Amino acid sequence: MVDFKVLILGNGSAVPTRWHNPSSQLVFYGKNKFLVDCAEGTQMQMIRYKIGGASIDHIFISHLHGDHFFGLIGLISSNHLGGRQKELFIYAPEGLESLINHHLEITNTTLRFPLRFFTHEKNKAGILFEDKSLEVRLLPLKHSVPAWGFVFKEKKRNRRRIDRTFVDVQNPSIEDIQRLQQGEDFVGKDGKVLLNKDITHPPFPPRSYAYCSDTAYDESIVDFIKNVNLLYHESTFDNSMQDLAETVLHSTAEQAASIAKKANVDKLLLGHYSGRFKELHTLEDEARKVFPNSVLSREGEYYRIG
Ligand SMILES: [Zn+2]
Repeated sequence: MVDFKVLILGNGSAVPTRWHNPSSQLVFYGKNKFLVDCAEGTQMQMIRYKIGGASIDHIFISHLHGDHFFGLIGLISSNHLGGRQKELFIYAPEGLESLINHHLEITNTTLRFPLRFFTHEKNKAGILFEDKSLEVRLLPLKHSVPAWGFVFKEKKRNRRRIDRTFVDVQNPSIEDIQRLQQGEDFVGKDGKVLLNKDITHPPFPPRSYAYCSDTAYDESIVDFIKNVNLLYHESTFDNSMQDLAETVLHSTAEQAASIAKKANVDKLLLGHYSGRFKELHTLEDEARKVFPNSVLSREGEYYRIG
């Protein structure tokens, strides 16, 4: 099965603290790495966790608050200095392309590689990226500036999985394996027919991951993230700060849990912690009362999807 996981690079909010970097994470799907938000400090976090900056080809930016994109120009510059030649794709709200181009102009930099921008369409969901096995969709969020989440969804897998014992005993050819994966029966050297259903298993169900940061409590996102295996939902505040959360269009951990419950997700990852908190267990406790499978995300930790 293709490796599908997320590495948290930064789960703080607004300003860096001794405990947390602002928002950034890497979604791995097979050989592809997708950078989701790129706050100040992202490059240092990538170095710390042994991720080569040149290995990333796709960067998704959720919204134009600095704690989600201030690291981007540095990452672009390092790719340039490192001799990158292949294209870099950036999916971002309107305004970021001109901001980056202005920066390059002022610093008299002509990049050695093509930078391709795709602008999120205001208030719209839609497919941002697609290949034969994965798609990434936009998810409009409710925040003080236009903001989006991202849903990574594996495409439906049609190939049946072949039983290990059968392979060990019958030693099928590559052609046999391909036919079996497509649902055909197996004919042995002795002419004996083995039924497909007896020697294969159904395909694995498609896996999915949703990233929702930054957003006020907003039930309209539930349909977009229904049944995802893993949901990262911002939980900037605890219950004592619910009024503040509503004012600044962020969420509490309990509200994140309520969204996770309504969307019937498998697991909730909390993040985008306010710098006020030195201890985060209150956030986790409040979330778990509503949705037991809630965990505090930790920087440097990988979380498997599905
Ligand atoms: Zn924000």
